[in-house]
Amino acid sequence: MTVWDDVVGQEAAVAALQGAVANPAAMTHAWLVTGPPGSGRSVAARAFAAALQCPQGGCGVCQACTTTMAGTHPDVTLLATEKVVITIDEVRDLIMTASRSPSGGRWRVIVIEDADRMAERTTNVLLKVIEEPPPHTVWVLCAPSAQDVLPTIRSRCRAVVLRVPPPQAVADLLVRRDGADPAVALTAARAAQSHVGLAKRLARDAGARERRTAVLSIARRIRGVGDAVLAAGELVDVAKAEAVSATQERDAVEKAELLRALGVADGETLPPRLRSQLKQLEDDQKRRATRHQRDVLDRAMVDLLSLYRDVLVVQLGAEVELVNAELADTVRALAADSTPEQTVRRMDSIGVARTRLDGNVAPLLALEAMAIALRPQG
Ligand SMILES: [Zn+2]
Repeated sequence: MTVWDDVVGQEAAVAALQGAVANPAAMTHAWLVTGPPGSGRSVAARAFAAALQCPQGGCGVCQACTTTMAGTHPDVTLLATEKVVITIDEVRDLIMTASRSPSGGRWRVIVIEDADRMAERTTNVLLKVIEEPPPHTVWVLCAPSAQDVLPTIRSRCRAVVLRVPPPQAVADLLVRRDGADPAVALTAARAAQSHVGLAKRLARDAGARERRTAVLSIARRIRGVGDAVLAAGELVDVAKAEAVSATQERDAVEKAELLRALGVADGETLPPRLRSQLKQLEDDQKRRATRHQRDVLDRAMVDLLSLYRDVLVVQLGAEVELVNAELADTVRALAADSTPEQTVRRMDSIGVARTRLDGNVAPLLALEAMAIALRPQG
């Protein structure tokens, strides 16, 4: 067992990182790990941090390895955020930490999991320290792609690029690490299109599998404009409900913590001068819920896209595995019912809806237009 075990299907990236751990000449003070969502950027960054601290280069069992992987190593700082942006104060704190010598480890490692969520002003603060880092400090930035960070940062970092791992590699991980059933794991890995986190959720949560199937079922249910409008409404409602259930509990905890920090007792009315702070928190939480809802909707559209991709595969007679092998009947029925040109147009309409959602168009509007384009064209 080593710290690299969970970095699945990324042989080239792992070799580059291991090389830097083993050979001081190959070491750099700033790294940029990029890869599509779910490819394991933060897992790779964490494994790298552990390997740097471990006397054996990442044995996976010593204290340096286990504390780094658990997020408690004193010389490894991880900035993971679910907020929309990383604030300038958060980055200033990291820079303070980075300036200190390691307390016991070999390096001081700072990992920023979503380096693409920094405003330009914030990035410029970071730039100065990346240019002239203290000798024992290593920065590891993660982002979906190199284009998501400013060129000034990009050019000062060594790039490590993760690819989409093969479904079988993801399935093997789920079996080995999470004890998933091999057949369920492979179906889940394919359905999640190798997004490791999603595959894990699909493999162990029957409810998540059912929700996915429900989303895909709209492809056959839409017969006319009326069905399309209904289906769009359903998709939005499901996403809203999922976002609420995912964020509600944490929102309440955060609010209680803030009130405690402000010295306001339970049930006491908030003095007017403190109201803006509570308002700020509530605005952040609202933004987070909106973002989560959009993420859920985007995932639903990626799932739909995978279904039509399968339809196209069948229509063109391509010798490629289906993403949705368990829905082969649906795929064949849709394939028999339309032409490849129509399938491509449907896929385009899903792509347009994703772009519009990303551009803050009201979700229901974007989805209605998409659902209408999915109805049979005669
Ligand atoms: Zn170790």
